[in-house]
Amino acid sequence: SRSTGIKISKIIPLFISAISWSAFQRTSSYSSRLKLSTSMAWSCSSSNNKGLVSNLENARIFQSSRVREAMLGVDRKHYCPSNPYQDSPQYIGYNVTISAPHMHAMCLDALADRLKPGARALDVGSGTGYLTACMAIMVGFSGKAVGVEHVPQLVEQSISNIKADGKEYLLSSESLVMIEGDGRKGIAQHGPYDAIHVGAAAPTIPQALIDQLKPGGRLIIPVGNIMQELLQIDKNPDGTINQKSITSVRYVPLTDLSQQVGK
Ligand code: SAH
Repeated sequence: SRSTGIKISKIIPLFISAISWSAFQRTSSYSSRLKLSTSMAWSCSSSNNKGLVSNLENARIFQSSRVREAMLGVDRKHYCPSNPYQDSPQYIGYNVTISAPHMHAMCLDALADRLKPGARALDVGSGTGYLTACMAIMVGFSGKAVGVEHVPQLVEQSISNIKADGKEYLLSSESLVMIEGDGRKGIAQHGPYDAIHVGAAAPTIPQALIDQLKPGGRLIIPVGNIMQELLQIDKNPDGTINQKSITSVRYVPLTDLSQQVGK
């Protein structure tokens, strides 16, 4: 499916008969935002980046002013080949999509406290490079954002996108690094990380990603097959793990390259 990298509540109007509404009656603090965004499906779309970001903020998809600054500083039109300011995933080739803006905003917001200046961040399945660029801005020159992507052409494309967005300085200063590889293994040489984001759904949480989290670090990862939950995994100072579900989502799979693109 190409309808991926999207919050399930956004597609309820399309699939209302197919999905049990009770699945979305969550008791977390998220329920009010879920209900709000359900009734406002697609309404965060705009004709420009600034409009998109302020619509996402007004819909309370994100609340951190640092997320606002990052999203204003990274213009989606340089990363997204079609309808860049529409609040939906867009096809980018190789059977995958750039995630919807509301998912990017939500994940950055969940990680905002970990994406402080000087922090280390890992973006697994970096695709277009959009979210890695946002992370790089949030961690600043004293920090590092690492993107790992298994489609070599997408790695090249993401580097072109970052340059087209006027951000070659992030690459030359190595505050943003793009690496071709299997993201399920993480990137140990640049870790451990304060923040890890995974942009594709894993059947189970890869242990390497938990291992590469700093104590106090946070991992955001969609987990599941057909029905997926966006999980927030915190590594406590003593090394133990706390886990909670943020919301139901639909992402492309975190998988083998041959599975994704065919032989
Ligand atoms: N977050 C990106 C891309 C989301 S799509 C964006 O919004 O632009 C998910 C990405 O994960 C795709 O680019 C896909 O090629 C990549 N991917 C899937 N499995 C992977 C794996 N095992 N290792 C690295 N990348 C993977």
